[in-house]
Amino acid sequence: MLEVGQTEKSAISPGPRTQLRHPSSIRCRFCVPKARRQSSLPPIGCLLLSILPFFIPCATRGAEPIRYVVNLTAPETHLVQVTMSIPDASPGTKIQIPAWNCLYQIRDFVKDVQDLKADCDGQPAELDRLDQNTWSGPRRTCGTLAFHYLAFENTDGPFDSMLNSHHAFLNLAMVLFYLPLERNRPVQVKFKVAMGWKLASLLEGAGDEFRAADYDQLVDSPVEAGHFQDFSYRQTLPDSAPGAVESKSATIRVIIDGDSGDYSSSHILSSLEKITAEETSLMQDLPFSRYTFILHFPREGGSTGGMEHGNGAAIAVAAADNRNSHGYLESVAAHELFHAWNVKRIRPQRLEPVDYINGNDTRDLWFCEGVTNSYAQLTLLRSELIDRDAFYRRLASAIQILQSHNSRGFQSAETSGREAWLEKYSDYNRSPRSISYYNKGELLGYLLDLGIRQAGRNRAGLDDVMRRLNQDFARQGRFYTMNDLNAIIAQLAPAFDMNRFLAEDVRGTQELNYSTYLEYAGLRLTTQATGSPAQGFFATRNARGLLQVDSIDGGSDAERAGLLPGDVLIKADGNPLPAGSVAGLPPWRAGQAVELQVRRGGGKHVVKFRVGADQEISYQIDEDPLASREQLRVREGWLRGVTNPSAGKP
Ligand SMILES: [Zn+2]
Repeated sequence: MLEVGQTEKSAISPGPRTQLRHPSSIRCRFCVPKARRQSSLPPIGCLLLSILPFFIPCATRGAEPIRYVVNLTAPETHLVQVTMSIPDASPGTKIQIPAWNCLYQIRDFVKDVQDLKADCDGQPAELDRLDQNTWSGPRRTCGTLAFHYLAFENTDGPFDSMLNSHHAFLNLAMVLFYLPLERNRPVQVKFKVAMGWKLASLLEGAGDEFRAADYDQLVDSPVEAGHFQDFSYRQTLPDSAPGAVESKSATIRVIIDGDSGDYSSSHILSSLEKITAEETSLMQDLPFSRYTFILHFPREGGSTGGMEHGNGAAIAVAAADNRNSHGYLESVAAHELFHAWNVKRIRPQRLEPVDYINGNDTRDLWFCEGVTNSYAQLTLLRSELIDRDAFYRRLASAIQILQSHNSRGFQSAETSGREAWLEKYSDYNRSPRSISYYNKGELLGYLLDLGIRQAGRNRAGLDDVMRRLNQDFARQGRFYTMNDLNAIIAQLAPAFDMNRFLAEDVRGTQELNYSTYLEYAGLRLTTQATGSPAQGFFATRNARGLLQVDSIDGGSDAERAGLLPGDVLIKADGNPLPAGSVAGLPPWRAGQAVELQVRRGGGKHVVKFRVGADQEISYQIDEDPLASREQLRVREGWLRGVTNPSAGKP
């Protein structure tokens, strides 16, 4: 997922075919799905139930599907009417609603649920509340146990749900309960929409009815309903793509909800075609038969950014940004599409099985999100949506962002990922408290790529690592661990010290050695210190429209001169500061001697001091005109996405 800028917060929703492992009945036999299993464990079956009760993924494949009816026909109320029907329900059947999804934040979706009722074979049935998110049904068997409730959905953005008179966008984990003991039971969902609305889903189905293999797949598929525009094109893999790929061709569907004056569909389709061609070619894989971009261009309100799903992505870009064509949409689309591999299918063990109540261990996000950021920028470069100068500027900017966070001295990239769950607290996001695993992870992705290429004279790069992870884990239905990643890199680039990289750069907090890695590619990093004026205090207009000091910077000349919080500013350098004026303080320069007349208590005081200076360090990356052939080999390999398997052989 991706929010605005480089210091995004995070999260993801479950993988496309994940399985809940839980103690279960012994009805199933050898039903461990091939799709997903522990990376280091051999396949296990029900014979092991008694000794490995917590690894049993069997449960209820083959059972009658859970049926949901989602009624969106009262959009002006923001109330989604839901009926959840469970055939052959056991006594005391439990239902539960997630506390989180999409964002790595416990958001208590139960807060939006109201008027929950149940009936057993058409007769009203009692409900027990077991905890905040969990209820149990009647203590008798029901041919059909049905739950009826309303869900209030009134927040725009790719991580949320909205039902209003304009449209509906649903993150289904916010709307639909699951059976905690049968989460891998197949599901069907039918939508009822307002007259004239169209409906789009990432799920398989037809008309207004869709199906999913299980709850995890269901809620990895957002739904859009309204008056959107609908485009599609075919993406094919070149015949030269090796390996047993799922498919050589897929439909890329583009759903756009926005004012037609705010975007150019031909421009968007042209960009997306370059991005999908580049990334599927890079991965030599089309792991889906259909991939859907759901694009929103809101004129106001709602969060912006992107949210990845196994077979699509939901992206929101402010209409004004899109009109001005800053390339943000392309960056987000390249990021989210790469997630179709990195995190959705190339999936760390620690994110599985998804714990919808308590959250998961997210320490690997530097790789899931950060390296996805690296590939988003490399994709834009390699598909010629940006040029090399722009790529170098973005890389230098990413360095500047990390170096401006003093918290890099105590929070590692791994810890930043582990603490993603704290991002819902604004204090946590301050630069003295936390770094971004998107930001440092992106830099680690570049350094890792350069390190691997340099160690093997560009015989292999991170591209090969991603393809191996895809081949050995994603396509085999296995999750990976950092040990697995380490082993692949050891095979591809034995001379690269991945243990040191993990210990010092991923789990450690020492400064990243940018210059050394960039030099592998004949690139030079230079810095320039610039001073920006720092007046030493902060003032806002009070209720009477006068500028009043809110706070003083400790150690500033203004503090030493005796300026105090609460001082009302009357004159600056002899010029009056009238109440309600739109003009503020003069544009002082660093080092300038200034004079303020202030009112304090009943008297007037004059305070004289010098404006200080904040030092900012900016970074620049340039190509070394004297780069050696070896350096050029690494540079061209990295920027163009090629390796030379025969390089260096006699
Ligand atoms: Zn992401």
